[in-house]
Formats: sequence, C-alpha cells, structure tokens
Amino acid sequence: MDLHPFVRDIQDFPEPGVVFKDITPMFNDPKALNAAFEGLLDLVNGKPVDKVVGMESRGFFFAPMLANKLGAGFVPVRKKGKLPYTTLSETYDLEYGTDVLEIHTDAIQKGEKVLIHDDVLATGGTASAVCRLVEKLGGEVVQCNFLIILDFLNGKDKLKGQEIVSLLNY
Ligand code: IMP
Repeated sequence: MDLHPFVRDIQDFPEPGVVFKDITPMFNDPKALNAAFEGLLDLVNGKPVDKVVGMESRGFFFAPMLANKLGAGFVPVRKKGKLPYTTLSETYDLEYGTDVLEIHTDAIQKGEKVLIHDDVLATGGTASAVCRLVEKLGGEVVQCNFLIILDFLNGKDKLKGQEIVSLLNY
C-alpha cells in the first residue's frame, strides 16, 4: 500500500518557513495504520530486540505497538522534567539553541538490544541524543527505525555507524 497519500504537508508549521510532514491522516485510516505498522515491523527484519525506545511525542504512537509485537519492552524518552523517576539527560542542538532529552536510568540493562523508533528523522539531533542515552546505559542500538526520513536535512550524518531504516523518504 502506498502510504504517501496519507502524509500531508503543512506550510509554516510550527513556525514560518517550515514545511511540516503531518502523519495524522495515516493514523486516521485503519488500512493505512495497519500497513504502516506492518511495514515498520518488516524493516526490523527479525532482529532480536529487548527494548524499543520511542521519543516524545509522535514516537510514542508506534513504539509500544512494535515492542509488543517484538516481545520487547517499551521505553519512553521525554523532554526534560517529564519523567518521574531518576533520569539520565542528554543535551542536543536545535536550529536555535539546545534542548534536553531524558530516560529513566533503570529502563535499559547492560547488553540489551535496543530498537530506536521515531516518526521523522529530520536533522538527526533527536535520534543521535537518544542513541547516546541508550549507549550510556550500556544498551546496544540495533536499528534506528523511522516512518519518514527527510533526506535533504542529512540527519543520517549524525547517526554514523547505526543501521538506519524508514518506510518513506523525501
Ligand atoms: P531532528 O532532531 O531535527 O531530527 O527532528 C526530529 C524530531 O522532530 C522528531 O522527534 C520528529 O517528531 C520532529 N519533526 C521534525 N520535523 C518533523 C516533521 O516534518 N513532521 C513531524 N515531526 C517532525
């Protein structure tokens, strides 16, 4: 099933000059939702996975579904101050300034195989910070798995050495 018709461009969101890929139509359509989920699962290609890490907030849509199907646990990564237990933090660059992502310190055990999932890979700042969090806890990143990669932003350059896969590329 071609999923391109279920991604719409929103001009000037969240700020002027940005064209935002809106994936809510994909979630709105039962067949597209299922096709996207099955497609993401196929990309994992049978790799053993202990934990699936999803990034706030659109990474939370598919990451727990993938974890459940893969027989893995789900781990949320959130913006600073949102997780209630002891956290490890990682700072990453935005276009203007920096931001902080956090993970619970007991969410990943040493040697666990970790799949990282998010909806969109743009500049790669978010995903590379999540890789660092996972690796600091002793996890092994087995794949960075996205619905969409915006190739023109070269986010893959920040994820050197990682397996990077996606269902759609722009
Ligand atoms: P990056 O850190 O620049 O790679 O941005 C990736 C993060 O920003 C992801 O968590 C995405 O959810 C979000 N993001 C960036 N661009 C888009 C977009 O066009 N559509 C949806 N999310 C986006």
